Amino acid sequence: MDKNFKEEFTQIIKFEPPLYKQRHQFVRDLVEKYKPKKVADLGCADCSLLWMLKFCSCIEVLAGLDICANVMKEKMHTLSPLPVDYLQPSERSLTVTLHHGSVAHKDPCMLGFDLVTCIELIEHLEESELKKFPEVVFGFMAPSIVVISTPNSEFNCLLPRVMLYRHPDHKFEWSQAEFQSWALETARCYDYSVEFTGVGHPPTGMEKVGFCTQIGVFFRKYPQTGESVQSEKPMEAVYKTVFKAVYPSLKDEKYLQNAVISEVIFTAQIIKHRLMSKREEYSDDPERKSKFQPSMDCFSDYLGKLVVEKNMEPFVSGNEVYIPLRTIFSFPKVNRLCGTFEKLCKLIAGKVTLSSDGSAVMFNIEHENEEN
Ligand code: SAH
Repeated sequence: MDKNFKEEFTQIIKFEPPLYKQRHQFVRDLVEKYKPKKVADLGCADCSLLWMLKFCSCIEVLAGLDICANVMKEKMHTLSPLPVDYLQPSERSLTVTLHHGSVAHKDPCMLGFDLVTCIELIEHLEESELKKFPEVVFGFMAPSIVVISTPNSEFNCLLPRVMLYRHPDHKFEWSQAEFQSWALETARCYDYSVEFTGVGHPPTGMEKVGFCTQIGVFFRKYPQTGESVQSEKPMEAVYKTVFKAVYPSLKDEKYLQNAVISEVIFTAQIIKHRLMSKREEYSDDPERKSKFQPSMDCFSDYLGKLVVEKNMEPFVSGNEVYIPLRTIFSFPKVNRLCGTFEKLCKLIAGKVTLSSDGSAVMFNIEHENEEN
């Protein structure tokens, strides 16, 4: 390569966004496209990719593995649920686990994943580890998709300050041909197909060097059968779990119950408020008051097109306001949370004050009447 040409580029190559962010975004896009439920990140280092992935709503199980426990521990607290996760539990369940161990060893906790990511990992493996890696990832874990990224050594000539490798811990860096021949052979051995791409475009005129980071996306060709997982003879766990977080989820009955109770009370309060304001309006006019019938009109805007039966109307009797549970159940959010009317009744039983026959939420308005 022309020396001046090279110097010109080595001065200006700066990726925006930074390359590590482009790699993580690449994985995120893949997750959005294929919607895996269970994702494992091998060589997860400071957990920054895992942190990004916890916001992907399709993921229910996230696992990280690294041979260096300290690097994982540095920021693993960022994977813990926040107060807001408890205040507003999500509809999906999410468990995040970090394991300390090597990709050269098999552990049953790594079975059953849909997507396995190995971002800038393989170049850190010793020769003996790299030899075992395909059997562990493609043979044993056998996820539907594997993503492997690694530096493209052909790009190094454009990077300032890179003498041999980009990082002192790298054991090798491969050219495009070297990576592709390893990847194709691995895919062939384990019945996967592989597509090559990358992030970090070369400058115009230098397209031949390829992407700065080369990426192989492997797709398992055979369908995963329950049998292949079960046929694995029981094996010993060799990884050490260093972190586990179970996020609050509405799939857990105790969080669902809290959410339903709050939503039922909130909805009932809105209906009651509408009813009382309407009543007040009428109370100024004795003639209208005598004709006052609390009707669905006063909150029809909340009910939209719902078909309302007579027994769904809220009513006032003495100092009590009654909001039928059927009416509350017809509100979309309550309906979605509970699924069935029976479930609604079950979840709020004993937690919300109801009429004697249990068909309506009851509020005492004696105090409110006094205030008025
Ligand atoms: N994947 C991260 C960073 C990778 S750096 C990212 O995208 O930013 C490589 C990581 O692999 C390091 O954290 C290193 O500790 C880990 N590693 C090296 N050898 C390993 C092995 N045999 N098993 C598991 N992790 C390993």
